[in-house]
Amino acid sequence: MMILGSHVSLGGNDQFLGSVKEALSYQANAFMVYTGAPQNTLRKSITQMKIKEAHELIRSSQIQFEHIIVHAPYIVNLGNPDPEKRNFAVSFLIEEVKRTHELGSKVMVLHPGAHMGDGPELGIQRISEGLQQIIDQTIDYPVTIALESMAGKGTEVGRNFQELAAIIKSTNRSSRIGVCYDTCHTSDAGYYVKTSFDDVLAEFDSVIGLSYLKVLHVNDSKNPQGAMKDRHENIGFGTLGFDVLHSVITHPKLTHIPKILETPYVEDPLKENASYPPYAYEIQMIHQGTFNPKLKEIIVQNRGII
Ligand code: FE
Ligand code: FE
Ligand code: ZN
Repeated sequence: MMILGSHVSLGGNDQFLGSVKEALSYQANAFMVYTGAPQNTLRKSITQMKIKEAHELIRSSQIQFEHIIVHAPYIVNLGNPDPEKRNFAVSFLIEEVKRTHELGSKVMVLHPGAHMGDGPELGIQRISEGLQQIIDQTIDYPVTIALESMAGKGTEVGRNFQELAAIIKSTNRSSRIGVCYDTCHTSDAGYYVKTSFDDVLAEFDSVIGLSYLKVLHVNDSKNPQGAMKDRHENIGFGTLGFDVLHSVITHPKLTHIPKILETPYVEDPLKENASYPPYAYEIQMIHQGTFNPKLKEIIVQNRGII
């Protein structure tokens, strides 16, 4: 059984219940949410998130709690040279770990951070210290923090497996730390995802250890290998291509890992500011196993609804 889903939204009246409904509308058996807008740190209280109703729906569905992922907002930066901003990131992420637990999820994806010019070594040190504080202050919350592999744009830390491994090694509770592998990011960072994914996976195993792998972000990339850009493309429409991404999703060593699509909404060429979620169609195409070059047109015709 493929464990496959996508990023879904959380908001409006239905809150987390709406996230589950959205995932089910895509025929997904896994999903990922931000607990609010990814670009800010304003968060609703968990009592307002319709968690009880959401959990009832999950229990009656094909989704297992182990396959629900939370993504921390990407503007908090544990690598920030400013200690006040680092402290804010730490206290926000402590609350985010607790929210992750309340939502019933066991994995929180985190962009490690950016060194902002101070260099990766200092960045790694600051990030490790911050992570250690978060872990120490959330001992009663069985959530694994999955550090995401980054594309290497700007001063991002985590652009290669060595940097992720260095962060993990500097914390003393490595059972609470994992990794989220993003196909677009690793290709953009220079790994041979397209031509030799097996070698990339072997390198991941020797540098970090496959047991640390908790989530896969499956995205095509708008840019060639090594571009360091981080611009996602729909499955099959980018430089990686459908066959490569399908073989990642169906890889025998990755069967038990949830795969999450974070591909872009498809824009309506005839309507300004209208775009539709691709996930129902991408999930169906992945299950069928063959690329449909007309997929984007079909998504627009049907406004993303199957
Ligand atoms: Fe991410
Ligand atoms: Fe990602
Ligand atoms: Zn990305």
